[in-house]
Amino acid sequence: MSQSKFSNLRLSADLLGNLETLGYEAMTPIQAKALPFILEGHDLIGQAKTGSGKTAAFALGLLSSLKPEQYLVQSLVLCPTRELADQVAKQIRKLARAIPNIKVLTLCGGVPMGPQIGSLESGAHIVVGTPGRIEDHLRRGRLNLKKVNTLVLDEADRMLEMGFQDTLEKIIEQVPKGRQTLLFSATYPKEIKSIAKRFMNEPELVQLESSHDDSSIQQHFYQIETKEQRFDALCILLLEHNPQSSLIFCNTKREAQELADKLKQKNFSVAALHGDLDQRDRDQTLIRFSNKSVAVLVATDVAARGLDIDSVDAVINYHIAQENEVHTHRIGRTGRAGAAGCAYALYNSKEQYKVAQLGLYLDRDILPEQLPSRVLLNKIPTQAAMATLKIDGGKKQKIRPGDILGALTGENGIAGSEVGKIDIGENWSYVAVSRDKTKAALRKLGEGKLKGKSFRVRRL
Ligand code: AMP
Repeated sequence: MSQSKFSNLRLSADLLGNLETLGYEAMTPIQAKALPFILEGHDLIGQAKTGSGKTAAFALGLLSSLKPEQYLVQSLVLCPTRELADQVAKQIRKLARAIPNIKVLTLCGGVPMGPQIGSLESGAHIVVGTPGRIEDHLRRGRLNLKKVNTLVLDEADRMLEMGFQDTLEKIIEQVPKGRQTLLFSATYPKEIKSIAKRFMNEPELVQLESSHDDSSIQQHFYQIETKEQRFDALCILLLEHNPQSSLIFCNTKREAQELADKLKQKNFSVAALHGDLDQRDRDQTLIRFSNKSVAVLVATDVAARGLDIDSVDAVINYHIAQENEVHTHRIGRTGRAGAAGCAYALYNSKEQYKVAQLGLYLDRDILPEQLPSRVLLNKIPTQAAMATLKIDGGKKQKIRPGDILGALTGENGIAGSEVGKIDIGENWSYVAVSRDKTKAALRKLGEGKLKGKSFRVRRL
């Protein structure tokens, strides 16, 4: 217990006293693991979610290295949404109470520029904001980051998901190289690894759960006989487990399309992905699946190869793969980045020899399990969480993710937390919004302007 006391850290007496006033008695696990590194000035990647106490971890770090008498921006915190930025700024202010006259400024999109320009002119020690708006101020020469010594990328995975990679890079390039960089993210996809490699200096990696390997993916096998039983079994598994995203593998293109059509008839949120579709359809399907507007993707192995999706909740082998390596590759799509993964496989007596081979390959006994109750077949499938809006404007029209986020979340708009992945192409953009906010989002984008122009927007 004594190990997780804040008083064991090299924190100033004022900060410690304030923590006591706030009722923070002991460090949370992420604080206990990360703060010693942070306070020693190391770069750090923290795999932590909201609610873990990560904000206080980086806030105490940046407050400890702050020079209050220098009225210059010394810390920059980048967040994916205005709501998070407001929340983070509020927490930093609470923790900064111990130090007199610390100015924390929030700079977010979706609100008028005027007041922000005024605040920037009067200066701040700490800036918390969203990437699009920060880059705007930088480009117009209103924000000077030359004295920043701590850079925080909060919910970095969400920022990348929302398409802020280029914007982030432009901002990071303007922060002095000798800075300390702290990156927090709930997941650890390869894009984060690449950012870390390019912009961080030998970062410490702090994870709460141990990262996952393929052997900890739970695999379940079910024996069926007829074609009808196979289809029913699939529906039962989907209805029982309700995965937000699931990938179903078929061995042929034709089977993938037929299965997707049948699932659609049963009201599942589904799309097919195989080589007989034209490139545009395949691209749109991938966008809709990766932004969670489609819950079930039925694919062939070849088509799924190019799938740049970090993790799905469930992988279902509609038929056992022809080769053991293919099977392992398929199920490796689930359970990445510390998330729990589930893989299901259906087979009939003709495929039993493949299951036996797979058992030898995996070095385990594979026993068929009993399927959940058929009563589930009366259940209505859960719809996808998001819907995709297509905007007829993209890079060529100079549209950036921040413009779309700002247009959606401004006055009378939807909350930043209702906005999902943003994908920007040459002449088009796709943005995912919470399904139940589709109308409001369409109205807001339809009424508003992007880069001073109106664009056609429709739901896919
Ligand atoms: P966060 O994950 O940063 O959003 O923090 C979640 C909540 O936990 C915030 O309301 C913090 O004020 C609170 N909190 C953070 N650290 C501690 C701590 N060591 N003890 C008690 N509460 C904390």
